[in-house]
Amino acid sequence: LSFDQFIRHWAKERPGHTALEQDGAAITFGEFEERSRKIVAMLAAHGIAKGDRVAWLGKNSRLYFELFYSAARMGAVMVPIGWRLAAPEVAFILGDTGAKLLFIGEGFEKAAAKACGQMESPPEVISTPDAQEAIDSAGADDFEPAGPDDAVLQLYTSGTTGNPKGAVLTNRNLFALRVPSEEEGQPWSHFDEDEAILVCMPCAHIGGTGLGIMAMSSGIRAIVQAEFTPDGVLDGFEQGITRLFIVPAALQMVVQHPRAKTTDMSAIKYVLYGAAPIPLDLLREAVKTVPDAGFLQCYGMTETTGTIAALPPEDHDLDGNQRMKSAGKAVPGVELKVIGEDGQELPRGEVGELICRSPSNMAGYWNLPEATESSLVDGWMHTGDAAYMDEDGYVYIQDRMKDMIISGGENVYPAQVESAIYGHPQIAEVAVIGVPDETWGEAVKACIVPKAGEELDEASVIAWTKERLAGFKVPRSIDVLDVMPRNASGKILRKDLRAPYWQGRERQVN
Ligand code: ATP
Ligand code: MG
Repeated sequence: LSFDQFIRHWAKERPGHTALEQDGAAITFGEFEERSRKIVAMLAAHGIAKGDRVAWLGKNSRLYFELFYSAARMGAVMVPIGWRLAAPEVAFILGDTGAKLLFIGEGFEKAAAKACGQMESPPEVISTPDAQEAIDSAGADDFEPAGPDDAVLQLYTSGTTGNPKGAVLTNRNLFALRVPSEEEGQPWSHFDEDEAILVCMPCAHIGGTGLGIMAMSSGIRAIVQAEFTPDGVLDGFEQGITRLFIVPAALQMVVQHPRAKTTDMSAIKYVLYGAAPIPLDLLREAVKTVPDAGFLQCYGMTETTGTIAALPPEDHDLDGNQRMKSAGKAVPGVELKVIGEDGQELPRGEVGELICRSPSNMAGYWNLPEATESSLVDGWMHTGDAAYMDEDGYVYIQDRMKDMIISGGENVYPAQVESAIYGHPQIAEVAVIGVPDETWGEAVKACIVPKAGEELDEASVIAWTKERLAGFKVPRSIDVLDVMPRNASGKILRKDLRAPYWQGRERQVN
């Protein structure tokens, strides 16, 4: 399977069907096949050949997806760069990849110039209007299409636990798990022709670009929004989107938006969510707010091209179902195992590191042979996530191994404590970290953003948590924050919250 095959297939089967749409302007699968050959010619005219890197800096746009799909047809590798990154970070990624061309979205001229100004050999920068013009005037030539094992996408990890790493993904990685398989009892992997997928998460992450890939491989209309806003998602519902993917922090903004109560959400079929742990109370609220949708939790990582485990709609039952705390079970084609420190598989119910064997596992990290060797062992991707599996193969993600707190010899998983605290009526957001403690090694600290207009009563937060969790998991101290530090994937940067407390000390990490 390859982009070239999908593009030709849908151009033939659904030539008049909308492929990509943004702000009302659309291109059909038929038109795109032709335009895509022009893009390949334009890239070739700029000296781009198979294996070369081509970068994008900007918000989500139709042009980005057109460039990505077309570059992939010929085996050039697209590197979307997070638009919230600072100039040195952008310069690092550009330098690391050796990209020859940098396409930029509207309004990114200054950001690109600043990043390129910090580089020894910067790429050629092409603005959106210049790219459009070059494409329009190019000839639609023939070319040698890329094969299944050619790299086509290089996505950087979110940088939640350290520096972002470039995961190199091939055609096979991208499409291996996306072939619909109704026999396997996953109705959500089947797409009706009239569906519409909302792409609102950033294209520099698998939750953004991955939804575009899902639409392209399924012959479905993708509605692209420049960036996530709760209003944009609610507008999407009204426009009749049938699926979207959204991270928990964004889902919270949507369900708590005043408009959520009056928006017509009847067209939606599936709400896909994931990329970070979700507090159970938030999930319950979301399921009640969007009653017509099947909720599908997705667990995965950049290195696995996104989802490798999914929690199906039927396990989102509001009557105290334990399964709702699970991230789901392996999707067809994926093997999951929980291993102990000795690398041996653990009995069901015991917490260890989750590892994954999947045709969607990346080819490797770009320029990081040691990191590749230590995380991709005999085809098994080591996720760095602590988890256990139940008798039926459902996986319960505890948290990142690096974020686990060891307090008085007991293991505390911040995500569990956060989920318990989250329901407290005065709290909008919460993150739990380990801080140094003379007696216990580490002590549990909660960093809390109160709801607007609420004065946080710390004693009541402690009492609330004591009712719900074992004593050693209850925070010893609370910090009140104005804003929660998050990266562009919506993930809480616990490393930033921890940093001031650990200055000059080494934190023991598992
Ligand atoms: P970095 O690897 O640079 O530190 P990152 O791990 O956040 O950043 P991603 O590849 O975007 O980068 O995220 C993958 C991680 O996200 C997983 O390893 C896991 O910790 C978390 N995650 C993804 N889906 C879920 C989920 N459904 N529930 C809980 N955690 C999840
Ligand atoms: Mg990671």
